[in-house]
Amino acid sequence: MNKITSLCAAAPFVTLAAALSLSTAAAQERAASLPPTDVAGLRWTNAFFPGATYRAAVPTGDSLLGFPIGQRAANSVEIEKCLKAWAAAAPDRTRLVEYARTYENRPLHIMVITAPKNLPRLDENQKDMARLGDPRKISDDDAKKIIDMLLPVAWLGYTIHGDETEGSDAALAVLYHLIAADDSSVTKLLEEVVVIIDPLQNPDGRDRFLKMIAESRGVTPNVDDQSLQHTGYAPWGRGNHYFFDLNRDSLFGVHPETRGRMKEVSRWNPVLVVDAHGMEGQDTHLFSPPREPINIHVPASRARWSKLFAGEQAAAFDRHGLVYYHGEWNEDWYPGYTDSWPAFRGSVGILYEQASIAEDGVRRPEGRILSYRESVFHHVIGSMANLATVQANGKQLLENFYSIRKNACAADGPYSKRTFAVLPTANRGRFEKFIKLAQLQGFELFQSGNEFTAASAVDQLGRELKDPKLPAGTILIPNRQPLGHLVAATLDFDPRIPAKALEDERQEILRKGRSRIYDTTAWSLTMMFGLEALTLPMELPDSARPYAPAERAEGGVVGQAESPVAHAIDGADDLSVTAAARLMERGVQVRAAEKAFELDGQKFARGSVVITQLDNRGFAGDLRQTIDATTRELGVRAVAIRSGLGEGDLPDLGGEHFKRLEPPRIALLSRGGSNPNDVGEIWFFLDHELGIRHSRVSVENEAELSRYNVVIVPERSGPLPGSWTNRLKDWVKSGGTLIAMGSSVANFTDEKADFSKVRVLPDVLNKLGDYELAVFREWLARDGGLPSADAVWSHKAAPGLKYPWQSVGGAHAEEKELKKRDAWLKLFMPQGTLLAARVDTKHWLTFGCDEPLPVLAFRDPVLMAESVEVPIRLGYLTKTASQPAEAANPAAGGSASEAKAKVDSADASNAGDGKEPDAKEKKEPPRIGWSALPPGTEMHFRMSGLLWPEASHRLANSAYVTRESLGRGQIILFATGPTFRAATLGPARVMLNAMIYGPGFGAAQPIRP
Ligand SMILES: [Zn+2]
Repeated sequence: MNKITSLCAAAPFVTLAAALSLSTAAAQERAASLPPTDVAGLRWTNAFFPGATYRAAVPTGDSLLGFPIGQRAANSVEIEKCLKAWAAAAPDRTRLVEYARTYENRPLHIMVITAPKNLPRLDENQKDMARLGDPRKISDDDAKKIIDMLLPVAWLGYTIHGDETEGSDAALAVLYHLIAADDSSVTKLLEEVVVIIDPLQNPDGRDRFLKMIAESRGVTPNVDDQSLQHTGYAPWGRGNHYFFDLNRDSLFGVHPETRGRMKEVSRWNPVLVVDAHGMEGQDTHLFSPPREPINIHVPASRARWSKLFAGEQAAAFDRHGLVYYHGEWNEDWYPGYTDSWPAFRGSVGILYEQASIAEDGVRRPEGRILSYRESVFHHVIGSMANLATVQANGKQLLENFYSIRKNACAADGPYSKRTFAVLPTANRGRFEKFIKLAQLQGFELFQSGNEFTAASAVDQLGRELKDPKLPAGTILIPNRQPLGHLVAATLDFDPRIPAKALEDERQEILRKGRSRIYDTTAWSLTMMFGLEALTLPMELPDSARPYAPAERAEGGVVGQAESPVAHAIDGADDLSVTAAARLMERGVQVRAAEKAFELDGQKFARGSVVITQLDNRGFAGDLRQTIDATTRELGVRAVAIRSGLGEGDLPDLGGEHFKRLEPPRIALLSRGGSNPNDVGEIWFFLDHELGIRHSRVSVENEAELSRYNVVIVPERSGPLPGSWTNRLKDWVKSGGTLIAMGSSVANFTDEKADFSKVRVLPDVLNKLGDYELAVFREWLARDGGLPSADAVWSHKAAPGLKYPWQSVGGAHAEEKELKKRDAWLKLFMPQGTLLAARVDTKHWLTFGCDEPLPVLAFRDPVLMAESVEVPIRLGYLTKTASQPAEAANPAAGGSASEAKAKVDSADASNAGDGKEPDAKEKKEPPRIGWSALPPGTEMHFRMSGLLWPEASHRLANSAYVTRESLGRGQIILFATGPTFRAATLGPARVMLNAMIYGPGFGAAQPIRP
């Protein structure tokens, strides 16, 4: 599994019971004539709140649902019905807020519950929390006074993973109790605390799962958690409409569910945020605190508070004789979990994980049956225990919130003298996307009005720069601000896992061959977005002004040309691909420039989109108006051009460099073993980044492929079924563009498949020298310099030339030995690490990309490529400082560079590549794993996250993207899915280029309708 998908073991669960609860005559008519026999222990009918008395005016959940709360999972409509009924019946205690709508148009709600006397104060409470949250503007005395007036807010959220159903039913139980109970303990709680309940954080996922459960339901109860009644089936209900894991999305805010919640949490500033999940049905119950590694930017006080909450939650479980645990698999390194994200803002975040049943019950190993309702009850116990802890410690929690913010703002605090600088770019679409995300996170943003020089800086490769100049327009985010912990957690280039946790991780890998880390170890936002940034060891420069969006040039056609020969859209902007795609969908003939050009005094990057008048003589509509409308929708400009004569040597409009594009007709393979995350991410890009028509096609059917000219094979488990691989081969040969990634490449790289020429590392250990030579040739072709003039112009044939193959090959051990060593290195493959890649900036697939390109690497196949194009390889090469350019060419007799390189190589050459330790004495060049470094270069590799050195020796110089022709078509392979969480925007651009430009650029003769 290359992507970590399961915080709470994603597995599947139960549901049934409706058959048992049928009440009407008609329903009984439908029921089986044979009544189910009893399952001992299935019926757990205890009251959630024994002895509580309730106000008659508030309808019970049971009456609203038609079944007791927790007997089975309520769907989103049933939950909404309860919320509305309770808000209407108890306006004295409630305020119901719809905070978002899902893609499937389901509402998301929070219910605010507090005492009648507090309701009118809620807006004021929000304002006072905001004041308390900015310690720069108040004194400690002010803070005390504010805290005296404030009510602490406790936020309880449930079932963000739609198939971990218990949470939402527990939410209904807690809601009814808090809204309807008339006993003094509840009224006192509500006088002292504002409770916010978010009962259903992922309605689309929940309802998708409940439908699976309903359709698998039989007449008799089922307590076997392997049954479809409990498991559902792919894509399950974990993700939202696009199968995204919303419990990872707080970093990126991609989806409306997340954005709505982030805004509400920011508005209310709760002191507690609970996120209630479910885990595998045979498990027990887990709550916070997590174990190490814990993100280093989590406020230190979290440990103390977690302990207090956990102690009181444990005592509540003990009173019921229940067992539970904390830590174990639950770590907290990734900052984008729903309960982690608020912790960086000053809340205490708590995770619950309950053995998930879904409905009916599950028979456990000891023979006992855990019923659904009892499982629901466990979340109720935790919720009420945590509310009691907030009630008893309200003032201290508010003080904690204040002191976290104060620490973040302190002049001598951990975040002083550090500013993140994001450099302006012609990729406006992406730059603005970053700014929007930073604003959603609540960061204070500044912008430099003019160029300025910093004393020093650290770049994303960890290099220290002296006196770097930062251009006007640079976005500046001071780390010292009220949300300093969150700023650091999201933007820190290189947070490092503490040594003890690192040691535990390494031991686990060596003992058990697996990682203890649950999610990606790298996520630094500027790198994820592929934006160049620096860390400055300083406060804001004088030239910084609060960020205010520049008078945004409207999109649309610009330039007043009366009769333009063409319109051009700058290819540096990711949105240019969208513009091209949507123009083609509107019937416009479009070209893309494979080189940078300058026409009519305007400069354009390579990859720019060009629409000529001549191509579109047959266009039925108003061309200018269509271009204008299309670009206006996106906020990009299309420049009217009056002359096709290129500046100097730059291309002219009629030459070969302006390729005519072929409208893409895209099929995205789905189901039948396809990885739902990967399918969802690409689907999301097609729908929301490109906004074009496409088909998701099930591999469970034998679809007719000639309807498409682009087929995308997302990551998957196991081989493609049936005749898919063979049919795809025929289809590629007839002109198709095939795009595959990660685990799906195995369908095409296997030698027996006779499909792609790309191989995976373990299959070519017997010919590593060939692959090394390919690395050398590529490098020499782009940056090799020249042999010496004497060597070139000598009148005599010169003996003793130095060739690349003298630096490579030969040194590798026997294949059998290499297999053993490769298996060892493979143990250490990354778990989500940002690596620096080098980019062939003359290749059409890399339009809009610069190097180093940050790419996220996982336990994916290592792609080995020779005799195919490799637009992107892992490992960013720079020349070593002391090397003359000429020396980089081995044919120049680079003995000086070799001597230098040998010194550098002392650490680099090790056992991983099969070379003996003493080999450097044999005048071998420095090696990183299977490949020697081109002479005179050094490789920058790890950008952020955990990368064991062993993994770098497998991955360095391997291919990240390959392109090759087959027949009239082409194959494009990505080592790793390029659209991780819709946030790896550098590689995602390559994917956009592949999908939209592929048929026009790479296919010798694309398939036409
Ligand atoms: Zn979960």
